[in-house]
Amino acid sequence: MDIDVKHNFDAKNLTSFKVSGIIENAYFPKSKEELIYLLETLDNSVILGNCSNVLISSDGLRQDVIFTKNCNKIEFNNEKVYAECGLKIQMASKLACEHCLGGFEFMIGFPASIGGAVFMNASAQGQAISDYLLFAEVFDLNTKKVLNLSKDDLKFDYRKSICQDNNYIVLSAEFALPKSDKAEIQNKMNSNLEFRHNHQPSLALPNCGSVFKNPKNDSAGRLLDKVGAKELCVGGAKVWEHHANFIINYDHATSNDILNLMLLMYNKVDENFGIKLSPEVIYIGDKSEDEEKIWKILKQK
Ligand SMILES: Cc1cc2nc3c(=O)[nH]c(=O)nc-3n(C[C@H](O)[C@H](O)[C@H](O)COP(=O)(O)OP(=O)(O)OC[C@H]3O[C@@H](n4cnc5c(N)ncnc54)[C@H](O)[C@@H]3O)c2cc1C
Repeated sequence: MDIDVKHNFDAKNLTSFKVSGIIENAYFPKSKEELIYLLETLDNSVILGNCSNVLISSDGLRQDVIFTKNCNKIEFNNEKVYAECGLKIQMASKLACEHCLGGFEFMIGFPASIGGAVFMNASAQGQAISDYLLFAEVFDLNTKKVLNLSKDDLKFDYRKSICQDNNYIVLSAEFALPKSDKAEIQNKMNSNLEFRHNHQPSLALPNCGSVFKNPKNDSAGRLLDKVGAKELCVGGAKVWEHHANFIINYDHATSNDILNLMLLMYNKVDENFGIKLSPEVIYIGDKSEDEEKIWKILKQK
């Protein structure tokens, strides 16, 4: 197969955080078949969707990375929707609206792919990607087999799916969406966009969405605000002045800047409330000793 591959590729412009990190081998399959072929033949590869929830190490990744962005077919069959992993959820949301199908209104405001959103069980405004999901087709990296998993099999929870524990790569997902009034869907999408505009940084300020997950029955943003996190800054990274659970790369931040800032935020909440926040953003790549140490602290429960 003639699969597009780039060597020593800087992933900066594909990521919402815009941190430079050189990837030894970056693959761009154009179809699900090419993606499966790569998953069958490469060992130890990393899969990335729209890179809106990852921090790539500034020291890069001496690894094979597969970007799914070109595996982006979508098909509508009455209320059923089939979408490949690399499709941007914003596109899925707009097309569902055109077909008078509800349930994807929350997807309009943020830059995930279908695969990344299923992996993370992305959600917002009381809706989640798991709500109307029927099946996901996944590639099991352990057995190198393709499986069809039902919603129950996927064991969705807050920012959680079984894919995270079982080395499952999401190839595609099928949904059954409720028929709805187009104007109503559009109104919901507009109000979701307005909410984001008022409460979250736009992508013109490079960020990765929420940095930490919400602890049970509380909000990471509230806790971080209480401990004065909005004042914090390390190198080219700072906490957003309007919401304390966002980090902005405002001046060529490195992964080291961002991790050290996360550690300051984490320690302040731990010291003041005895709560250990858990990162929502996923840090990947060749970690320096210092970064390895910080990530280990941040990942402890
Ligand atoms: C401005 C902004 C706002 C955001 N708002 C929200 C929000 O409201 N709600 C929310 O839930 N999230 C939000 N996010 C975070 C992010 O969009 C989600 O976590 C999203 O699900 C990540 O999808 P992605 O395709 O970008 O994944 P990536 O960042 O590319 O990858 C994230 C993880 O998913 C894995 N992955 C990617 N594709 C696949 C696949 N096909 N199969 C298996 N694993 C895969 C990667 O290996 C990685 O571990 C926001 C981010 C930004 C930048």
